[in-house]
Amino acid sequence: MVLAIRMNPNERPSASVPRSGAIVGVVCLLALAVLLLVTPNVSNRPTHAPISECINNLRHLDAAKEQWALDNKKQGTNPVSFDDIKPYLWQGRLPKCPAGGTYNLLATVSDAPTCSMPKHVLPSP
Ligand SMILES: [Zn+2]
Repeated sequence: MVLAIRMNPNERPSASVPRSGAIVGVVCLLALAVLLLVTPNVSNRPTHAPISECINNLRHLDAAKEQWALDNKKQGTNPVSFDDIKPYLWQGRLPKCPAGGTYNLLATVSDAPTCSMPKHVLPSP
């Protein structure tokens, strides 16, 4: 009589419910892990992107200054201005620092251009 009450061996109701709960838990953990991995990259973009963009602008300014000096047979000690290098810049316009800094060509051809914003520095060659 006791064997007549026994459940169908193919049916496993108690095992399937915890398994689906575990899968949902693992999926939630994976989603959280992906969020944690992605979020710092997104929040870092506004702080790092302007610096690299500015440094790229400084490179263009430096290259324009060098080209102007070559074309006009100027030496490293010769003074240079923004008006001198404008024809060597894209569309004849001075680039703008994405963070609102001010560019300074400094006095002579051999001086590297600078930006007024901190960390916006052209790496030395
Ligand atoms: Zn800058």
